[in-house]
Amino acid sequence: MTDRHACFILPQVVLLEAADRNEDLREAAMNTVAASASMRTQRVALTDLVRLLGAPAARIGELTPAGRLNTVYDVRNGSWDDLPGVRVRGVDDPPSGDRAVNEAFDHAATTRDFYAKVLERDSIDDAGMELVSSVHFDHDFDNAFWNGAQMVYGDGSGKVLAKGGLTRDLSVVAHELTHGVVQFTAGLRYSKQSGALNESFADALGSVVRQWAAGETASAADWLVGEGILGSEMKGVALRSMKEPGTAFEGDRQPAHMRDYVDLPDDNNPRNDHGGVHINSGIPNKAFYLAATRLGGHSWDKASPIWYDALAKRLRPNSNFTEAADATIASAGALYGVGQDTEKAVRSAWEEVGVL
Ligand SMILES: [Zn+2]
Repeated sequence: MTDRHACFILPQVVLLEAADRNEDLREAAMNTVAASASMRTQRVALTDLVRLLGAPAARIGELTPAGRLNTVYDVRNGSWDDLPGVRVRGVDDPPSGDRAVNEAFDHAATTRDFYAKVLERDSIDDAGMELVSSVHFDHDFDNAFWNGAQMVYGDGSGKVLAKGGLTRDLSVVAHELTHGVVQFTAGLRYSKQSGALNESFADALGSVVRQWAAGETASAADWLVGEGILGSEMKGVALRSMKEPGTAFEGDRQPAHMRDYVDLPDDNNPRNDHGGVHINSGIPNKAFYLAATRLGGHSWDKASPIWYDALAKRLRPNSNFTEAADATIASAGALYGVGQDTEKAVRSAWEEVGVL
């Protein structure tokens, strides 16, 4: 692991700004930020976590012939020290009576299937790694995250995020598991442009997984991440829009073009979002959306193999937006012919968002 952090689906800056605008959100937002802070100070690496998680997680990385280990734990409103919690469902178990358990399990399985069938990747690490998820983290926790070793889901306060919303949308689960894939491939550093690329790959492939499961074409898809999971006090439709960055909810600050790039410091202030990783990701997100829709058909036919090839073979921990553009153009050429229409469509997408 090149970088020590937890990848939250809902940026802390959004929680804090929502609380600034709406007094009713203050308590929910503060609870979630306070509970998240202990993770920031722990900043445990994968190897540390495997040790921390104890016996159940000793199986992380274990291969089975089927390579399909998928296990859900219930942390029963406990916190960091209680992860992963009590084992409630594995691959050979029937569905649980708990909807969150079944959603976490099913969406993880779908994400694994997508990676295996479409991108020929064997789980997060390409070596059959067990998918571990914990549900019911903390009390009314308004977030979900990949902590370097497993998925963790809060229940949502109902105000910022809908109760039960965090496991509901496949794109959220696939987004977080893709952070795991990024960790085991390019290892994009979670800061500024490389961090925004980390976020963007998670949004892009997370969206493609949802489109794949629904059988949607790129032009028919809504390109929303976290659709329908906002709580009663948040005005909007989703956490992010790849088609129209900056329009997902009231206060969405994502730019769609380099001229609107938001230059923030990467300090410990959660309002600065690791140097705008969830903010500037709007720019590469829009590039992916443009490439996928111009290539036509399904986003998993060409766009996602190109982006995945760039991620797995060409990008490095400190890659920036220009390098990502060059890498995807090189991948398009390698996979579908140098100088051909596919390569040109990828180049024009990056030009349109002002990266090239
Ligand atoms: Zn993320």
